[in-house]
Amino acid sequence: MAKPSLAMIGMAVMGSNLAQNFAEKGYDIALFNRTAQRTQDVYEAARGEPYAARLHPVYGDLKELVALVGRSGTYFIMVKAGEPTQDVIDRLVPLLSGDAIVVDCSNAHYVDTMRRQQALRDKVRFFGIGVSGGEEGARHGPSIMAGGESRTIYDRRLKRALEAVAAKAPQDGSPCVAYLGTHGAGHYVKMVHNGIEYADMALIAEAYDFMRRVLGMGAPAIADIFERWNKGPLQSYLVEITADVLRQEDPSGKGYLVDHILDAAQMKGTGTWMVESSLAIGKGVVPVPGIYGAVESRAISARKAQRVAAAKLLPLKAKRFAGNRARILKDLERALYVAKVACYAQGIDLLQAADEEYGFGGLDLARIARIWRAGCIIRARFLDDIAEAYQKGPMPQSLMLAPAFRRIVLKDMASLTAVCVAAANAQVPAFVFDASRGFILQSSSAQASANLTQAQRDFFGAHTYERTDRKGVFHTEWSGDRKERPA
Ligand code: NAP
Repeated sequence: MAKPSLAMIGMAVMGSNLAQNFAEKGYDIALFNRTAQRTQDVYEAARGEPYAARLHPVYGDLKELVALVGRSGTYFIMVKAGEPTQDVIDRLVPLLSGDAIVVDCSNAHYVDTMRRQQALRDKVRFFGIGVSGGEEGARHGPSIMAGGESRTIYDRRLKRALEAVAAKAPQDGSPCVAYLGTHGAGHYVKMVHNGIEYADMALIAEAYDFMRRVLGMGAPAIADIFERWNKGPLQSYLVEITADVLRQEDPSGKGYLVDHILDAAQMKGTGTWMVESSLAIGKGVVPVPGIYGAVESRAISARKAQRVAAAKLLPLKAKRFAGNRARILKDLERALYVAKVACYAQGIDLLQAADEEYGFGGLDLARIARIWRAGCIIRARFLDDIAEAYQKGPMPQSLMLAPAFRRIVLKDMASLTAVCVAAANAQVPAFVFDASRGFILQSSSAQASANLTQAQRDFFGAHTYERTDRKGVFHTEWSGDRKERPA
Protein backbone atom coordinates (compact mmCIF):
# COMPACT_ATOMS: atom_id res chain seq x y z
CA MET A 1 0.00 0.00 0.00
CA ALA A 2 1.42 3.42 -1.02
CA LYS A 3 2.17 5.91 1.73
CA PRO A 4 0.02 9.06 1.39
CA SER A 5 1.73 12.40 0.97
CA LEU A 6 -1.59 14.26 1.09
CA ALA A 7 -3.88 14.64 4.08
CA MET A 8 -7.41 15.96 4.41
CA ILE A 9 -8.23 17.38 7.84
CA GLY A 10 -12.01 17.71 8.26
CA MET A 11 -14.34 14.87 7.33
CA ALA A 12 -17.63 16.77 7.15
CA VAL A 13 -19.43 17.18 3.80
CA MET A 14 -16.73 19.08 1.94
CA GLY A 15 -13.56 17.42 3.24
CA SER A 16 -14.84 13.86 2.89
CA ASN A 17 -16.00 14.43 -0.67
CA LEU A 18 -12.86 16.26 -1.77
CA ALA A 19 -10.71 13.50 -0.24
CA GLN A 20 -12.61 10.86 -2.20
CA ASN A 21 -12.21 12.98 -5.34
CA PHE A 22 -8.38 12.96 -4.79
CA ALA A 23 -8.40 9.19 -4.23
CA GLU A 24 -10.48 8.60 -7.33
CA LYS A 25 -7.95 10.59 -9.37
CA GLY A 26 -5.15 8.32 -8.16
CA TYR A 27 -3.84 10.17 -5.08
CA ASP A 28 -3.25 8.38 -1.80
CA ILE A 29 -4.69 10.57 0.92
CA ALA A 30 -4.89 10.37 4.69
CA LEU A 31 -8.27 11.09 6.28
CA PHE A 32 -8.43 12.93 9.60
CA ASN A 33 -11.13 14.51 11.72
CA ARG A 34 -11.18 15.90 15.26
CA THR A 35 -13.91 13.40 16.09
CA ALA A 36 -12.55 10.04 14.90
CA GLN A 37 -16.01 8.52 14.48
CA ARG A 38 -16.64 10.77 11.51
CA THR A 39 -13.43 9.55 9.83
CA GLN A 40 -14.48 5.99 10.43
CA ASP A 41 -17.96 6.62 8.97
CA VAL A 42 -16.48 8.15 5.81
CA TYR A 43 -13.98 5.30 5.42
CA GLU A 44 -16.61 2.59 6.01
CA ALA A 45 -19.01 4.21 3.53
CA ALA A 46 -16.29 4.23 0.83
CA ARG A 47 -15.17 0.62 1.44
CA GLY A 48 -16.59 -0.89 -1.74
CA GLU A 49 -15.39 1.91 -4.00
CA PRO A 50 -12.60 1.24 -6.51
CA TYR A 51 -10.46 3.98 -4.92
CA ALA A 52 -10.96 2.80 -1.31
CA ALA A 53 -7.39 1.46 -1.03
CA ARG A 54 -6.08 5.01 -1.54
CA LEU A 55 -7.96 6.31 1.52
CA HIS A 56 -5.87 6.11 4.72
CA PRO A 57 -7.90 6.81 7.85
CA VAL A 58 -6.11 8.07 10.95
CA TYR A 59 -8.07 7.67 14.16
CA GLY A 60 -5.50 9.00 16.62
CA ASP A 61 -4.22 12.56 17.03
CA LEU A 62 -2.48 14.97 14.67
CA LYS A 63 0.93 13.48 15.64
CA GLU A 64 -0.24 10.15 14.25
CA LEU A 65 -1.39 11.88 11.07
CA VAL A 66 1.99 13.58 10.62
CA ALA A 67 3.78 10.29 11.31
CA LEU A 68 1.91 8.79 8.35
CA VAL A 69 2.00 11.70 5.87
CA GLY A 70 5.40 13.11 6.77
CA ARG A 71 6.68 16.37 8.22
CA SER A 72 6.94 17.85 4.72
CA GLY A 73 3.66 16.50 3.39
CA THR A 74 0.69 18.42 2.00
CA TYR A 75 -2.14 19.10 4.46
CA PHE A 76 -5.54 20.32 3.28
CA ILE A 77 -7.64 21.81 6.09
CA MET A 78 -11.38 21.75 5.45
CA VAL A 79 -13.01 22.50 8.77
CA LYS A 80 -15.24 25.36 9.90
CA ALA A 81 -13.76 28.73 8.94
CA GLY A 82 -12.44 31.11 11.62
CA GLU A 83 -11.43 29.83 15.06
CA PRO A 84 -11.67 26.09 14.23
CA THR A 85 -9.34 26.54 11.24
CA GLN A 86 -6.96 28.59 13.37
CA ASP A 87 -7.09 25.94 16.04
CA VAL A 88 -6.07 23.22 13.58
CA ILE A 89 -3.28 25.40 12.16
CA ASP A 90 -1.94 26.14 15.65
CA ARG A 91 -1.76 22.47 16.55
CA LEU A 92 -0.58 21.17 13.17
CA VAL A 93 2.15 23.61 12.16
CA PRO A 94 4.56 22.90 15.09
CA LEU A 95 4.63 19.27 13.98
CA LEU A 96 5.73 20.10 10.41
CA SER A 97 8.96 21.07 8.70
CA GLY A 98 9.47 24.29 6.75
CA ASP A 99 8.75 22.75 3.38
CA ALA A 100 5.39 21.25 4.37
CA ILE A 101 2.39 22.64 2.49
CA VAL A 102 -0.62 23.73 4.51
CA VAL A 103 -3.72 24.62 2.49
CA ASP A 104 -6.70 26.32 4.10
CA CYS A 105 -9.72 25.28 2.00
CA SER A 106 -12.32 26.85 4.27
CA ASN A 107 -14.42 29.87 3.33
CA ALA A 108 -11.92 32.06 5.16
CA HIS A 109 -12.08 35.85 5.21
CA TYR A 110 -9.24 37.11 3.00
CA VAL A 111 -7.94 39.28 5.85
CA ASP A 112 -7.43 36.12 7.96
CA THR A 113 -5.64 34.47 5.05
CA MET A 114 -3.32 37.45 4.62
CA ARG A 115 -2.59 37.45 8.35
CA ARG A 116 -1.91 33.70 8.39
CA GLN A 117 0.29 33.96 5.31
CA GLN A 118 2.42 36.49 7.15
CA ALA A 119 2.46 34.62 10.46
CA LEU A 120 3.40 31.28 8.89
CA ARG A 121 6.00 32.66 6.48
CA ASP A 122 8.98 31.08 8.20
CA LYS A 123 7.18 27.97 9.41
CA VAL A 124 5.47 26.23 6.46
CA ARG A 125 4.40 27.00 2.91
CA PHE A 126 0.85 28.32 3.38
CA PHE A 127 -1.89 28.58 0.75
CA GLY A 128 -5.49 29.78 1.01
CA ILE A 129 -7.82 28.35 -1.57
CA GLY A 130 -11.47 29.06 -2.22
CA VAL A 131 -13.49 26.02 -3.19
CA SER A 132 -16.85 26.49 -4.87
CA GLY A 133 -19.49 23.97 -5.84
CA GLY A 134 -20.75 22.52 -2.57
CA GLU A 135 -20.91 18.79 -1.93
CA GLU A 136 -21.38 17.78 -5.56
CA GLY A 137 -18.49 19.99 -6.66
CA ALA A 138 -16.15 18.68 -3.97
CA ARG A 139 -16.89 15.10 -4.96
CA HIS A 140 -16.86 15.42 -8.76
CA GLY A 141 -15.08 18.69 -9.58
CA PRO A 142 -15.18 22.09 -7.87
CA SER A 143 -13.97 25.42 -9.14
CA ILE A 144 -10.81 26.20 -7.18
CA MET A 145 -9.34 29.66 -6.61
CA ALA A 146 -5.84 29.38 -5.20
CA GLY A 147 -3.68 31.98 -3.53
CA GLY A 148 -0.46 31.73 -1.59
CA GLU A 149 3.07 32.88 -1.14
CA SER A 150 4.61 31.40 -4.27
CA ARG A 151 3.49 30.42 -7.76
CA THR A 152 6.64 28.30 -8.11
CA ILE A 153 5.77 26.18 -5.09
CA TYR A 154 2.16 25.97 -6.27
CA ASP A 155 3.28 24.77 -9.70
CA ARG A 156 5.67 22.23 -8.22
CA ARG A 157 3.61 20.85 -5.35
CA LEU A 158 -0.11 21.57 -5.81
CA LYS A 159 -0.96 22.28 -9.44
CA ARG A 160 -1.12 18.74 -10.73
CA ALA A 161 -3.24 17.36 -7.89
CA LEU A 162 -5.65 20.30 -7.90
CA GLU A 163 -6.04 20.14 -11.67
CA ALA A 164 -6.91 16.45 -11.31
CA VAL A 165 -9.77 17.09 -8.89
CA ALA A 166 -11.08 20.39 -10.32
CA ALA A 167 -14.11 20.67 -12.58
CA LYS A 168 -13.39 20.61 -16.30
CA ALA A 169 -14.90 23.34 -18.48
CA PRO A 170 -17.34 21.71 -20.92
CA GLN A 171 -16.16 24.07 -23.71
CA ASP A 172 -12.54 22.88 -23.85
CA GLY A 173 -11.95 20.45 -20.97
CA SER A 174 -9.56 22.79 -19.18
CA PRO A 175 -9.42 22.43 -15.38
CA CYS A 176 -11.24 25.12 -13.40
CA VAL A 177 -8.39 25.90 -11.03
CA ALA A 178 -5.65 28.50 -11.07
CA TYR A 179 -3.04 30.09 -8.87
CA LEU A 180 -4.33 33.66 -8.79
CA GLY A 181 -1.83 35.52 -6.65
CA THR A 182 -0.17 36.07 -3.34
CA HIS A 183 -1.59 36.69 0.15
CA GLY A 184 -5.36 36.20 0.25
CA ALA A 185 -5.89 36.29 -3.54
CA GLY A 186 -7.68 32.92 -3.65
CA HIS A 187 -10.08 33.73 -0.84
CA TYR A 188 -10.58 37.28 -2.15
CA VAL A 189 -11.61 36.00 -5.58
CA LYS A 190 -13.89 33.40 -3.93
CA MET A 191 -15.52 36.20 -1.91
CA VAL A 192 -16.15 38.21 -5.10
CA HIS A 193 -17.50 35.06 -6.76
CA ASN A 194 -19.98 34.73 -3.90
CA GLY A 195 -20.94 38.41 -4.03
CA ILE A 196 -21.65 38.09 -7.75
CA GLU A 197 -23.64 34.95 -6.96
CA TYR A 198 -25.80 37.00 -4.54
CA ALA A 199 -26.53 39.57 -7.29
CA ASP A 200 -27.18 36.90 -9.91
CA MET A 201 -29.63 35.12 -7.60
CA ALA A 202 -31.34 38.38 -6.64
CA LEU A 203 -31.88 39.33 -10.30
CA ILE A 204 -33.36 35.92 -11.05
CA ALA A 205 -35.63 36.21 -8.00
CA GLU A 206 -36.73 39.69 -9.10
CA ALA A 207 -37.47 38.42 -12.63
CA TYR A 208 -39.53 35.61 -11.03
CA ASP A 209 -41.38 38.11 -8.83
CA PHE A 210 -42.04 40.31 -11.86
CA MET A 211 -43.63 37.41 -13.73
CA ARG A 212 -45.55 36.34 -10.63
CA ARG A 213 -46.86 39.65 -9.31
CA VAL A 214 -46.69 42.05 -12.27
CA LEU A 215 -47.79 39.55 -14.93
CA GLY A 216 -49.79 37.19 -12.70
CA MET A 217 -48.07 34.00 -13.88
CA GLY A 218 -47.94 30.76 -11.91
CA ALA A 219 -44.84 28.70 -11.06
CA PRO A 220 -45.02 26.23 -14.01
CA ALA A 221 -45.50 29.02 -16.56
CA ILE A 222 -42.53 30.90 -15.08
CA ALA A 223 -40.51 27.67 -15.18
CA ASP A 224 -41.22 27.46 -18.94
CA ILE A 225 -39.82 30.96 -19.40
CA PHE A 226 -36.62 30.21 -17.44
CA GLU A 227 -36.21 26.99 -19.38
CA ARG A 228 -36.49 28.91 -22.64
CA TRP A 229 -34.04 31.57 -21.42
CA ASN A 230 -31.58 28.82 -20.54
CA LYS A 231 -31.26 27.99 -24.23
CA GLY A 232 -30.08 31.52 -25.07
CA PRO A 233 -27.46 34.00 -23.82
CA LEU A 234 -28.69 33.63 -20.23
CA GLN A 235 -27.70 29.94 -20.15
CA SER A 236 -26.36 29.28 -16.68
CA TYR A 237 -26.55 26.85 -13.79
CA LEU A 238 -28.66 29.27 -11.74
CA VAL A 239 -31.24 29.81 -14.51
CA GLU A 240 -31.33 26.05 -15.14
CA ILE A 241 -32.00 25.14 -11.50
CA THR A 242 -34.57 27.93 -11.19
CA ALA A 243 -36.73 26.17 -13.81
CA ASP A 244 -36.34 22.88 -11.88
CA VAL A 245 -37.14 24.53 -8.55
CA LEU A 246 -40.31 26.13 -9.96
CA ARG A 247 -41.57 22.80 -11.33
CA GLN A 248 -41.20 20.98 -8.01
CA GLU A 249 -44.61 20.02 -6.68
CA ASP A 250 -45.37 20.39 -2.98
CA PRO A 251 -44.80 16.98 -1.33
CA SER A 252 -47.90 17.58 0.80
CA GLY A 253 -49.99 17.99 -2.34
CA LYS A 254 -50.64 21.74 -2.14
CA GLY A 255 -49.64 22.92 -5.60
CA TYR A 256 -46.00 24.00 -6.05
CA LEU A 257 -43.36 23.83 -3.33
CA VAL A 258 -41.91 27.30 -4.02
CA ASP A 259 -45.26 28.88 -3.12
CA HIS A 260 -45.01 27.42 0.40
CA ILE A 261 -41.40 28.32 1.22
CA LEU A 262 -41.02 31.18 3.72
CA ASP A 263 -39.86 34.34 1.94
CA ALA A 264 -37.03 35.13 4.39
CA ALA A 265 -33.54 34.66 2.91
CA GLN A 266 -30.55 33.77 5.03
CA MET A 267 -26.90 34.51 4.37
CA LYS A 268 -23.57 33.29 5.60
CA GLY A 269 -21.76 36.60 5.17
CA THR A 270 -19.60 36.50 2.04
CA GLY A 271 -21.85 39.03 0.26
CA THR A 272 -21.49 41.38 3.23
CA TRP A 273 -17.72 40.85 3.25
CA MET A 274 -17.61 41.94 -0.38
CA VAL A 275 -19.57 45.11 0.34
CA GLU A 276 -17.34 45.84 3.37
CA SER A 277 -14.26 45.34 1.25
CA SER A 278 -15.62 47.68 -1.45
CA LEU A 279 -15.87 50.40 1.22
CA ALA A 280 -12.40 49.78 2.62
CA ILE A 281 -10.21 50.23 -0.46
CA GLY A 282 -7.66 52.92 0.35
CA LYS A 283 -8.13 54.90 -2.85
CA GLY A 284 -11.85 55.28 -2.20
CA VAL A 285 -15.10 53.36 -2.35
CA VAL A 286 -15.50 50.95 -5.27
CA PRO A 287 -19.18 51.05 -6.24
CA VAL A 288 -20.88 47.64 -6.10
CA PRO A 289 -24.58 48.63 -5.88
CA GLY A 290 -25.85 45.39 -7.44
CA ILE A 291 -24.15 43.30 -4.79
CA TYR A 292 -25.13 45.73 -2.06
CA GLY A 293 -28.72 45.63 -3.34
CA ALA A 294 -28.73 41.83 -3.20
CA VAL A 295 -27.45 41.82 0.39
CA GLU A 296 -29.93 44.51 1.43
CA SER A 297 -32.75 42.72 -0.32
CA ARG A 298 -32.01 39.52 1.63
CA ALA A 299 -31.79 41.55 4.84
CA ILE A 300 -35.22 43.15 4.22
CA SER A 301 -36.69 39.76 3.32
CA ALA A 302 -35.51 38.37 6.66
CA ARG A 303 -37.57 40.99 8.53
CA LYS A 304 -40.75 39.09 7.81
CA ALA A 305 -42.74 40.17 10.87
CA GLN A 306 -41.95 43.85 10.28
CA ARG A 307 -42.89 43.54 6.60
CA VAL A 308 -46.21 41.92 7.40
CA ALA A 309 -46.99 44.65 9.95
CA ALA A 310 -45.94 47.42 7.55
CA ALA A 311 -48.04 45.96 4.73
CA LYS A 312 -51.15 46.69 6.83
CA LEU A 313 -50.19 50.34 7.39
CA LEU A 314 -48.71 50.93 3.94
CA PRO A 315 -50.99 48.93 1.64
CA LEU A 316 -49.03 49.66 -1.54
CA LYS A 317 -50.63 46.76 -3.35
CA ALA A 318 -49.09 45.24 -6.49
CA LYS A 319 -50.93 46.16 -9.70
CA ARG A 320 -51.11 44.07 -12.84
CA PHE A 321 -49.35 45.09 -16.04
CA ALA A 322 -51.78 46.20 -18.74
CA GLY A 323 -49.37 46.50 -21.71
CA ASN A 324 -48.04 44.05 -24.29
CA ARG A 325 -47.10 40.90 -22.32
CA ALA A 326 -45.03 39.24 -25.05
CA ARG A 327 -42.96 42.39 -25.43
CA ILE A 328 -42.37 42.92 -21.70
CA LEU A 329 -41.30 39.26 -21.36
CA LYS A 330 -38.75 39.79 -24.13
CA ASP A 331 -37.64 42.98 -22.33
CA LEU A 332 -37.32 41.03 -19.09
CA GLU A 333 -34.94 38.51 -20.69
CA ARG A 334 -32.77 41.30 -22.08
CA ALA A 335 -32.96 43.32 -18.86
CA LEU A 336 -31.75 40.32 -16.89
CA TYR A 337 -28.76 39.98 -19.16
CA VAL A 338 -27.81 43.68 -19.08
CA ALA A 339 -28.25 43.89 -15.30
CA LYS A 340 -26.11 40.78 -14.93
CA VAL A 341 -23.36 42.42 -17.02
CA ALA A 342 -23.52 45.47 -14.71
CA CYS A 343 -23.13 43.30 -11.59
CA TYR A 344 -20.23 41.28 -13.02
CA ALA A 345 -18.62 44.57 -14.06
CA GLN A 346 -18.81 45.70 -10.42
CA GLY A 347 -17.19 42.46 -9.22
CA ILE A 348 -14.38 42.86 -11.76
CA ASP A 349 -13.87 46.53 -10.78
CA LEU A 350 -13.43 45.44 -7.18
CA LEU A 351 -10.99 42.67 -8.13
CA GLN A 352 -8.86 45.20 -10.01
CA ALA A 353 -8.91 47.67 -7.12
CA ALA A 354 -8.10 44.96 -4.55
CA ASP A 355 -5.24 43.69 -6.69
CA GLU A 356 -3.64 47.13 -6.43
CA GLU A 357 -4.54 47.60 -2.78
CA TYR A 358 -3.29 44.26 -1.49
CA GLY A 359 -0.60 43.49 -4.07
CA PHE A 360 -1.95 40.14 -5.26
CA GLY A 361 0.53 40.41 -8.11
CA GLY A 362 -1.71 41.01 -11.10
CA LEU A 363 -4.99 39.12 -11.12
CA ASP A 364 -5.60 37.48 -14.50
CA LEU A 365 -9.25 38.37 -15.13
CA ALA A 366 -9.59 36.18 -18.22
CA ARG A 367 -8.29 33.22 -16.23
CA ILE A 368 -10.67 33.93 -13.38
CA ALA A 369 -13.64 34.00 -15.78
CA ARG A 370 -12.45 30.72 -17.28
CA ILE A 371 -12.17 28.90 -13.95
CA TRP A 372 -15.72 29.97 -13.12
CA ARG A 373 -17.05 28.15 -16.22
CA ALA A 374 -17.64 24.86 -14.40
CA GLY A 375 -17.89 23.51 -10.88
CA CYS A 376 -19.13 26.73 -9.27
CA ILE A 377 -22.56 28.24 -8.74
CA ILE A 378 -22.20 31.13 -11.23
CA ARG A 379 -21.09 28.91 -14.12
CA ALA A 380 -22.60 30.36 -17.26
CA ARG A 381 -22.19 30.61 -20.98
CA PHE A 382 -21.34 34.30 -20.90
CA LEU A 383 -18.16 33.72 -18.85
CA ASP A 384 -16.54 32.76 -22.17
CA ASP A 385 -17.33 36.25 -23.45
CA ILE A 386 -15.91 37.80 -20.28
CA ALA A 387 -12.72 35.76 -20.69
CA GLU A 388 -12.53 36.92 -24.30
CA ALA A 389 -12.98 40.57 -23.24
CA TYR A 390 -9.92 40.41 -20.95
CA GLN A 391 -7.87 38.00 -23.04
CA LYS A 392 -6.49 40.20 -25.76
CA GLY A 393 -6.11 43.78 -26.80
CA PRO A 394 -6.18 46.73 -24.46
CA MET A 395 -7.80 46.02 -21.09
CA PRO A 396 -11.31 47.59 -21.07
CA GLN A 397 -11.85 50.19 -18.37
CA SER A 398 -15.00 48.28 -17.42
CA LEU A 399 -16.62 45.05 -18.56
CA MET A 400 -19.49 47.21 -19.87
CA LEU A 401 -17.04 48.95 -22.24
CA ALA A 402 -15.57 45.79 -23.77
CA PRO A 403 -16.82 45.80 -27.41
CA ALA A 404 -19.14 42.77 -27.12
CA PHE A 405 -20.75 44.00 -23.89
CA ARG A 406 -20.90 47.64 -24.95
CA ARG A 407 -23.01 46.60 -27.95
CA ILE A 408 -25.38 44.67 -25.67
CA VAL A 409 -25.73 47.52 -23.16
CA LEU A 410 -26.49 49.98 -25.96
CA LYS A 411 -29.01 47.60 -27.57
CA ASP A 412 -30.77 46.41 -24.42
CA MET A 413 -30.70 49.37 -22.05
CA ALA A 414 -34.22 50.30 -23.23
CA SER A 415 -35.42 46.84 -22.10
CA LEU A 416 -33.89 47.33 -18.66
CA THR A 417 -35.62 50.71 -18.41
CA ALA A 418 -38.95 49.21 -19.56
CA VAL A 419 -38.75 46.53 -16.85
CA CYS A 420 -37.82 49.03 -14.11
CA VAL A 421 -40.68 51.33 -15.19
CA ALA A 422 -43.18 48.44 -15.35
CA ALA A 423 -42.11 47.21 -11.91
CA ALA A 424 -42.35 50.76 -10.51
CA ASN A 425 -45.83 51.26 -11.98
CA ALA A 426 -46.91 47.90 -10.59
CA GLN A 427 -45.50 48.78 -7.13
CA VAL A 428 -43.34 45.65 -7.13
CA PRO A 429 -39.75 46.10 -5.90
CA ALA A 430 -36.89 45.41 -8.27
CA PHE A 431 -33.95 46.42 -6.08
CA VAL A 432 -31.09 45.01 -8.13
CA PHE A 433 -32.62 45.79 -11.53
CA ASP A 434 -33.01 49.41 -10.37
CA ALA A 435 -29.48 49.48 -8.93
CA SER A 436 -28.05 48.09 -12.16
CA ARG A 437 -29.86 50.64 -14.29
CA GLY A 438 -28.68 53.46 -12.02
CA PHE A 439 -25.13 52.13 -12.06
CA ILE A 440 -24.99 51.93 -15.85
CA LEU A 441 -26.48 55.40 -16.30
CA GLN A 442 -24.43 57.07 -13.60
CA SER A 443 -21.16 55.42 -14.68
CA SER A 444 -21.65 56.53 -18.26
CA SER A 445 -22.78 60.09 -17.56
CA ALA A 446 -20.19 62.66 -18.59
CA GLN A 447 -22.10 65.10 -16.40
CA ALA A 448 -22.97 64.03 -12.88
CA SER A 449 -24.93 66.01 -10.29
CA ALA A 450 -21.92 66.25 -7.98
CA ASN A 451 -21.21 69.88 -8.94
CA LEU A 452 -24.14 70.76 -6.68
CA THR A 453 -22.91 68.38 -3.96
CA GLN A 454 -19.50 70.06 -4.03
CA ALA A 455 -21.11 73.50 -3.82
CA GLN A 456 -23.21 72.41 -0.82
CA ARG A 457 -20.13 70.95 0.90
CA ASP A 458 -18.26 74.18 0.37
CA PHE A 459 -21.28 76.18 1.61
CA PHE A 460 -21.68 74.43 4.95
CA GLY A 461 -18.15 73.21 5.61
CA ALA A 462 -15.74 75.20 3.44
CA HIS A 463 -14.67 71.88 1.91
CA THR A 464 -13.61 73.63 -1.34
CA TYR A 465 -14.21 72.61 -4.95
CA GLU A 466 -12.49 72.47 -8.32
CA ARG A 467 -13.80 74.28 -11.41
CA THR A 468 -14.33 72.92 -14.91
CA ASP A 469 -12.84 75.98 -16.59
CA ARG A 470 -9.76 76.74 -14.48
CA LYS A 471 -7.15 74.76 -12.60
CA GLY A 472 -6.95 75.07 -8.84
CA VAL A 473 -8.98 74.56 -5.68
CA PHE A 474 -11.49 77.22 -4.65
CA HIS A 475 -13.73 78.37 -1.83
CA THR A 476 -16.58 80.87 -2.02
CA GLU A 477 -17.85 83.01 0.86
CA TRP A 478 -21.44 81.90 0.20
CA SER A 479 -23.07 84.03 2.87
CA GLY A 480 -20.41 86.73 3.28
CA ASP A 481 -19.00 88.84 0.47
CA ARG A 482 -19.89 86.03 -2.03
CA LYS A 483 -16.37 86.26 -3.46
CA GLU A 484 -14.55 83.20 -4.75
CA ARG A 485 -10.94 82.75 -3.62
CA PRO A 486 -8.28 80.13 -4.32
CA ALA A 487 -8.19 77.79 -1.34
P1 NAP B 1 -18.56 22.47 8.46
O1 NAP B 1 -19.91 22.08 8.93
O2 NAP B 1 -18.32 23.86 8.08
O3 NAP B 1 -17.49 22.07 9.58
C1 NAP B 1 -17.50 20.83 10.21
C2 NAP B 1 -16.10 20.32 10.34
O4 NAP B 1 -15.30 21.23 11.11
C3 NAP B 1 -16.05 18.99 11.06
O5 NAP B 1 -15.08 18.22 10.44
C4 NAP B 1 -15.68 19.41 12.46
O6 NAP B 1 -15.08 18.39 13.21
C5 NAP B 1 -14.68 20.48 12.16
N1 NAP B 1 -14.38 21.32 13.29
C6 NAP B 1 -15.19 22.22 13.87
N2 NAP B 1 -14.55 22.83 14.90
C7 NAP B 1 -13.31 22.29 14.96
C8 NAP B 1 -12.17 22.51 15.77
N3 NAP B 1 -12.18 23.44 16.74
N4 NAP B 1 -11.06 21.77 15.55
C9 NAP B 1 -11.04 20.87 14.57
N5 NAP B 1 -12.07 20.62 13.75
C10 NAP B 1 -13.20 21.33 13.93
O7 NAP B 1 -18.15 21.48 7.27
P2 NAP B 1 -18.34 21.59 5.69
O8 NAP B 1 -19.73 22.04 5.33
O9 NAP B 1 -17.82 20.33 5.13
O10 NAP B 1 -17.37 22.79 5.29
C11 NAP B 1 -15.98 22.71 5.54
C12 NAP B 1 -15.33 24.01 5.11
O11 NAP B 1 -15.53 24.19 3.70
C13 NAP B 1 -15.93 25.23 5.79
O12 NAP B 1 -14.93 26.13 6.11
C14 NAP B 1 -16.85 25.82 4.75
O13 NAP B 1 -16.97 27.22 4.88
C15 NAP B 1 -16.11 25.46 3.47
N6 NAP B 1 -16.99 25.34 2.31
C16 NAP B 1 -18.21 24.75 2.43
C17 NAP B 1 -19.02 24.64 1.30
C18 NAP B 1 -20.36 23.95 1.40
O14 NAP B 1 -21.11 23.99 0.43
N7 NAP B 1 -20.65 23.29 2.51
C19 NAP B 1 -18.58 25.12 0.07
C20 NAP B 1 -17.32 25.69 -0.01
C21 NAP B 1 -16.53 25.80 1.11
P3 NAP B 1 -15.98 17.48 14.21
O15 NAP B 1 -16.59 16.42 13.37
O16 NAP B 1 -15.01 16.96 15.18
O17 NAP B 1 -17.00 18.39 14.83
